[in-house]
Amino acid sequence: MTNPSDTPTPSNFIHDIIDADLEAGRVVNVVTRFPPEPNGYLHIGHAKSIVLNFGIAQKYGGQCHLRFDDTNPLTEDEEYVASIQNDVRWLGYDWGEHLYFASNYFEKMYACALHLVKEGKAYVDSQSQEEIRQMRGTLTEPGKPSPYRERSVEENLELLEKMRAGEFGDGEHVLRAKIDMSNPNMLMRDPLIYRIRHATHHNTGDDWCIYPMYDFAHALEDAFEGVTHSICTLEFENNRELYDWVIANCPVKSEPHQYEFARLNLGYTVMSKRKLLQLVRDEVVQGWDDPRMPTIAGMRRRGVPPEALRAFCQLIGVAKANSTVDIQLLEYAIRDELNMKAPRVMAVIDPVKVVITNYPEDQVEWLDADYFPHDVPLEGTRKVPFSRELYIERDDYLEDAPKKWYRLAPGAEVRLRYGYYITCDEAIYGEDGELKELRCTYDPESRGGSTPDGRKVRGTIHWVSAAEAKPATFNLYDRLFTVERPDGDSEIDFQEYLNPESLVVAQGFVEPSVADDADDVRYQFERQGYFWRDSSSSNEALVFNRVVGLRDSWSKQQKKDEPKQATPKPKAEKSTKDAGAKASSSDDRPNKRPASYERDQARAANPELAARQMRYAQEMGLSEDDADLLSGDMDVATFFEAALSAYDTPASVAPWIVNEVLPLVPEEKTVAALDVSADDVATLVKMVDADRITTAVSREVLQAVLEGAGDPEKVVAERGLEKVSDAASLEPVIDEVMANNPDNVARYREGKTTLLGFFIGQVMRATGGAADAVKVREMLERKLGEG
Ligand code: ATP
Ligand code: MG
Repeated sequence: MTNPSDTPTPSNFIHDIIDADLEAGRVVNVVTRFPPEPNGYLHIGHAKSIVLNFGIAQKYGGQCHLRFDDTNPLTEDEEYVASIQNDVRWLGYDWGEHLYFASNYFEKMYACALHLVKEGKAYVDSQSQEEIRQMRGTLTEPGKPSPYRERSVEENLELLEKMRAGEFGDGEHVLRAKIDMSNPNMLMRDPLIYRIRHATHHNTGDDWCIYPMYDFAHALEDAFEGVTHSICTLEFENNRELYDWVIANCPVKSEPHQYEFARLNLGYTVMSKRKLLQLVRDEVVQGWDDPRMPTIAGMRRRGVPPEALRAFCQLIGVAKANSTVDIQLLEYAIRDELNMKAPRVMAVIDPVKVVITNYPEDQVEWLDADYFPHDVPLEGTRKVPFSRELYIERDDYLEDAPKKWYRLAPGAEVRLRYGYYITCDEAIYGEDGELKELRCTYDPESRGGSTPDGRKVRGTIHWVSAAEAKPATFNLYDRLFTVERPDGDSEIDFQEYLNPESLVVAQGFVEPSVADDADDVRYQFERQGYFWRDSSSSNEALVFNRVVGLRDSWSKQQKKDEPKQATPKPKAEKSTKDAGAKASSSDDRPNKRPASYERDQARAANPELAARQMRYAQEMGLSEDDADLLSGDMDVATFFEAALSAYDTPASVAPWIVNEVLPLVPEEKTVAALDVSADDVATLVKMVDADRITTAVSREVLQAVLEGAGDPEKVVAERGLEKVSDAASLEPVIDEVMANNPDNVARYREGKTTLLGFFIGQVMRATGGAADAVKVREMLERKLGEG
């Protein structure tokens, strides 16, 4: 099997498990599988699973099987089988000879079912589906045994054989494993393992009218193939017990193990095959490969390179906590890949004509133009025709231009990329009020982008020559939905959130050089974005799809819409140990945290930050808020990680920085401006964790450190802030408090035990807050009780 090796595979917890298995000799040759059900096209979530499973086979020199989990004849189809193979190959993976179909194991699975029946571990149940459901019990109540549970082996065998022979209708009987009707795991309450379904199967035709259920079939498929690590998404965590039961109770030789990881959820789209199928059936999109779909086929057609998808999958990592990945991260991965490879050419998407009145009428100059900017290590040039009539972008001209407008306006001068300076003399409007034409003059001395007098022209715009340019259709794709979680509310149909502008079709022009290029070139149309030819494109009728824009225009737009004071309230309560104290202290502090969109933007622009956010949330298990707040700016992330390198306990360090340090950062300053080092923070958090100081004291120490009182150890020592928890030191203080309050001691001893709080308070005061309150309470209860 071969694998693309462009993107290094970062390690993840599954790799750790495999490493341990190999080391202990539990596994010699690592075998994984990617097991799609052929009931739809693959989507980007599947890509995550493909990259993970094939990546493991690559890393460990093992195999990854492509196995069609085709056990449900009603929803499966050959079209899907073909598309899935196509998509996996396109992503860059090759299963070699290891292509399998669950349906090819039907006979072997049936043999396992017979085995279970003979062992008394499975029975035919003749209750209706509804009855079975009702008898299963609930999470809090055990289930009740079916009246058919104690059928004899002989009777069960006879019924099962008749089921297979087609003597019963759908739903008349089922085969159930006989496990435990009161198991706390509902899936273990005699799960169904076969059902009757008179339907034609895409592979086995009408050979079967009983079909195995997922849990039974999947475990057996893995075992038959000698899969060692069977990786699935978290929803199947509870199924693992049943998976293991099937392996343990069926006559199979190998012993695969199931591991679960978090599925990919992506913002501004939906990811279930059922919902994607609905979009196709309702003709909301033009098919499974519509470039707006999150399907692999859709992304391929749109022009996303497979390298970018793989890079994205590596970037998001593999972890055990579910989360929604920001779609900006995908867009970033695509831009990042294309930026280094795409030749730059010029296209005008919304054209308006420019006539250069002082340019000779029949002259055409062929100008040299570089394909790549300086920071891209590729080279190449083409010739671009320049003539008297050009097209430029309609929105590069403004009649009433504001002060800082550097593009065309009445009397304004701009540079035409690779060409000359032009000045606009006149704008001609049609009867409909629409701009028809711009009349300009050019400076013949400005060819190549500068003039002998060195005069400054700030704006450079792109253009094409009207006579030579090729007409082209541009498909401008945008997000398919207008909200991040279109299926987040079960009350509202996700289609309500469709983005009416997810496809805008424009007619324009592209420079003629593209006619000489191969069909699969991905271009950067200067100042517009990345494009490539749609599969419907021909040299007679060029059609380009926008793969992705140059910048993230979306978050800019959101920023515009967002009210100025959109800073989130600090969520201190959520991530603190000491909720009571914290709530009051953080509520009246000024909140200096940047708004979340700024952090989002920072991450969109910098994949390193985006990757950190993922890592903080998924590997370190931080709350989403903390992961967000700590990864929105490189200074904060660096500070956080520096603290971790001194005290590697993210669960303590993260909330402390978020709640205690970040609110103190002055506006327009970074955390580095504070007079506290990451090491000091680590020391403080460590002291709290070690129970040496209370959280309240840690706050006081931080304040002192900021005021220049020295490092935390020094402050704590000098001010005697360390928790006093040894009995020998506390005893005299407690004795004194009791001696000073004889009345309250007496009342306590008469039964008024609520006075305990009073005594604790007195002792705490007497020790300047340094006493260990838990210890004080314990000692007080004992001493007061002794009377
Ligand atoms: P869907 O829920 O979208 O219909 P599915 O889980 O039913 O998907 P399968 O064909 O059964 O689709 O999935 C094949 C493999 O892909 C499984 O191992 C599954 O765990 C994995 N997979 C499916 N969706 C995702 C996802 N969003 N993220 C990661 N892995 C996924
Ligand atoms: Mg499935």
